[in-house]
Amino acid sequence: MNLRFLSTPSGTPLANGRKLSHSPHMQINTLIIGAGAAGLMCAAHSGPKTMVVDHAKAAGEKIRISGGGKCNFTNMYAEPQNFLSANPHFCKSALSRYTQWDFIEMVAAAGIPYHEKTLGQLFCDTSAKDIIKLLKTEARGADIRLNTSVEHIAKAENGFDVALMHEGKLTSVSTANLVVATGGKSIPKMGATDFGYRIARQFDIDVLPTRAGLVPLTFGQDIMEALKPMAGVSLNARVSCNGAAFEEGLLITHRGLSGPSILQASSYWHEKDSLFLHLEPALDIVQALKDQRQQAGRMAVHTALGAHLPSKLANYIIEIAGLSGNLADQSDNDLAQLEAVLTELEMRPTGSEGYRTAEVTLGGVNTDALNSKTMESRTVPGLYFIGEVVDVTGWLGGYNFQWAWSSGWAAGTAIAG
Ligand SMILES: Cc1cc2nc3c(=O)[nH]c(=O)nc-3n(C[C@H](O)[C@H](O)[C@H](O)COP(=O)(O)OP(=O)(O)OC[C@H]3O[C@@H](n4cnc5c(N)ncnc54)[C@H](O)[C@@H]3O)c2cc1C
Repeated sequence: MNLRFLSTPSGTPLANGRKLSHSPHMQINTLIIGAGAAGLMCAAHSGPKTMVVDHAKAAGEKIRISGGGKCNFTNMYAEPQNFLSANPHFCKSALSRYTQWDFIEMVAAAGIPYHEKTLGQLFCDTSAKDIIKLLKTEARGADIRLNTSVEHIAKAENGFDVALMHEGKLTSVSTANLVVATGGKSIPKMGATDFGYRIARQFDIDVLPTRAGLVPLTFGQDIMEALKPMAGVSLNARVSCNGAAFEEGLLITHRGLSGPSILQASSYWHEKDSLFLHLEPALDIVQALKDQRQQAGRMAVHTALGAHLPSKLANYIIEIAGLSGNLADQSDNDLAQLEAVLTELEMRPTGSEGYRTAEVTLGGVNTDALNSKTMESRTVPGLYFIGEVVDVTGWLGGYNFQWAWSSGWAAGTAIAG
């Protein structure tokens, strides 16, 4: 492998004058880049002489803000089918060897109070900081260095030589194992970078195209003009996209559509695809209107629909269905037309809010390049990729943290032997 120089986005390339040979040198067993969910979990299991570095000023920042500050730390029903990947089988090994029940046991043993919110999603009762504290305690044997950037990585005979920069001072580290746990590109203002993908490319490891996932979707001007007056309206909906369907809350915002059902569908959405919305799927709205037609035929049809849907949305739906007048004026055909709009409303997003608000990054390090039991590169011994930087992306609901725990555990225990 040829030596290549790599600089962090904010860092000065080492090639620019500074001499690594004059900096303090450390010999360690494992260097983990990224003190997030996966990196801390790996550090808790990777054994002696582990160092974790992160350019952020605090560890586990995404954990801290997750789940509205309460961290949806796993899902009781986590299964491989809750994850997207070019190879849907890859995640099976790690998820089955370190399961949600293993993590729940660790949380319970630490006395952290938690509860199920909905659909198997487990949240802390008090604060997401409880999970960060737990991980830091579990990883207490590791040397965690914050505000530290990676200036240079080179393959050495028995591992890697890495140059680290902290407060303007360089340290050179020789490590047998290098674990890349730098996460995805979501929320750049919290320190997210493409660094992990760049490290993969440095070692000729394939990176699949990335895109924002679990993200609000945006629409063209004509639809936005109709949606904007409805901003703030929320309801239940079944949202389908490309063969996947999610029945959860939907929220209309002044930028487009959001809410759990939309965020879930967004991970399956590609440019030019349509979403199909079934509004309030638990209700048989049209049957209710047919019954009402007998007793309250003089009620305006939009008022009658407004008893089942937020009134601004009811007016919009009536307009799309092309109805007007009273309930008694509506033929069975008219109501069938309304039913089609309520159960199969087609909406074509023009884009998403992007990495600025996305909860995850789809795509990433190609799983074909990694061993599914250990997360180690198939071509570069001692190089590992864990967490969100890998092309494994979970649904909304605690699945992404479970992937961070399972993949971090898999690499950590493999390193510790
Ligand atoms: C707002 C929000 C809420 C979320 N809520 C949930 C939830 O409730 N449940 C759930 O399961 N998932 C949730 N997620 C997703 C979850 O946070 C991630 O999937 C998870 O944190 C990924 O873990 P990771 O360790 O791979 O990456 P991260 O946790 O992102 O950690 C990566 C670390 O690497 C560091 N890093 C990056 N680049 C560099 C570099 N160049 N040099 C040094 N260090 C670097 C970062 O500073 C960071 O500390 C949420 C995401 C967001 C954005």
